[in-house]
Amino acid sequence: MDQLMISLVIPSYNEAGNIAAVMDAIAKEMRHQQARFEVLFVDDGSTDGTMDEIRSVLLTYPEAEYVSFTRNFGKEAAILAGLQHANGQAVIIMDADLQHPPSLIPELLQGFEEGYHQVVAKRNRKGDSRVRSFLSSFYYRLVNQAIDVRLSNGEGDFRLLSRKAVDSLLLLSESNRFSKGLYAWIGLEQKTITYENVVRQHGETKWSFGKLLNYAIDGIVSFNTKPLRLCFYMGLLSLGAALLYIAITLLGIFKNGVDVPGYFTTISSVLFLGGVQLVSLGILGEYVGRIYNETKKRPHYLVGQSSTEVKGKRDVHASIHQS
Ligand code: UDP
Ligand code: MG
Repeated sequence: MDQLMISLVIPSYNEAGNIAAVMDAIAKEMRHQQARFEVLFVDDGSTDGTMDEIRSVLLTYPEAEYVSFTRNFGKEAAILAGLQHANGQAVIIMDADLQHPPSLIPELLQGFEEGYHQVVAKRNRKGDSRVRSFLSSFYYRLVNQAIDVRLSNGEGDFRLLSRKAVDSLLLLSESNRFSKGLYAWIGLEQKTITYENVVRQHGETKWSFGKLLNYAIDGIVSFNTKPLRLCFYMGLLSLGAALLYIAITLLGIFKNGVDVPGYFTTISSVLFLGGVQLVSLGILGEYVGRIYNETKKRPHYLVGQSSTEVKGKRDVHASIHQS
C-alpha cells in the first residue's frame, strides 16, 4: 500500500509574520510521523508580503505548496481552495496565526487512524473578552434553535477531515458557504479533542464586530427557511391581535356609541406593524439576495498563481472554480 499522505491547509491573509513559524512548527511535528505530508498555503489576496514569505518557505521545504488568489475572497473561499487542491488521504485545516497549535497534530492523526472521518479540535474560550464569550454562547443557543444541524461553541475550522469527508464537502457547491454548518451537515463519525485557547502573537484578527455579525446572520439564514416561517407566525399573530382589537372596539361602539379615538392605540399599532413588516422584509431580502448570488454561479475564487493543480478526480469542480 502507498504511504499515507497528509495535507495541511493554511488559509493566510496578511500573515507575513507567521508563515515561517507555522511551517517550522508543522514540519517539526510531521517529521515524527510515518506519513508523508504537504503544507498548502492559500494566500487570500494578502497585501503585506505574505506571498514573499510563502515563496521563501517553498525554497526551504519541498513539502510546501501554495495557491494564491487574485484578491481577498475570504476565509471560506480559502478553505474551499485548500480542500480542492489537497492531495492527501486526510486534510488538516489550520489557521496561519498559530492559534491552532501544531502540537495537536499527533492527536488529530491518531483520531484518523482510529477510523474517524472528522477529528475536531475544540477550544475553550480562555483569553476571549467576557462580552465576546457571552455573545457567542448566546448565539450558539439561538442558531441551534434555528437550524437543522447542531453546531458546537468552540468548534471551528481546526480539524482533520478524511478523504471521504473532504469529497463530501466538495459536493456542496453553494456560493454562500458557512463551513461550520457544512461540517455538521455532512455527518460522518466525529471525534472531538479539546485544547486551551491561544492568544494571537503576530498581526491582528481579521474579524471586526461587523464581520462577526454578518457571519452570525449567514449562519442562521444559510441553512434553512425557518426565519421565513417565523415571519409568517409574526404576521398571523399581529393579524389576530388586530382582529381582536377591532372586534372589541366595534362591540364598544355598539354599546356606548363612538367615543374619542385613542392616540396611544393608533400609534402603537402603527409602530408595531411597521416593525414587524420591516423585519420580515429584511429576512425575505436575505433569502432573495442569496438566491441572486447563487443564480450568478460565480466561482468562489480566482487563482492568480499556484504551485499545484486541482486534482483530476474533482474536475467538475475544477472547471467551475479555476481561473
Ligand atoms: N483569513 C483568510 N482570509 C480572510 C480572513 C482571514 O484566509 O479574509 C485567515 C487568517 O489568515 C487566519 C485565519 O483565516 O489564518 C483566521 O483568521 P483570524 O486569526 O483573523 O481569525 P480569529 O482567529 O480571530 O477568529
Ligand atoms: Mg486567529
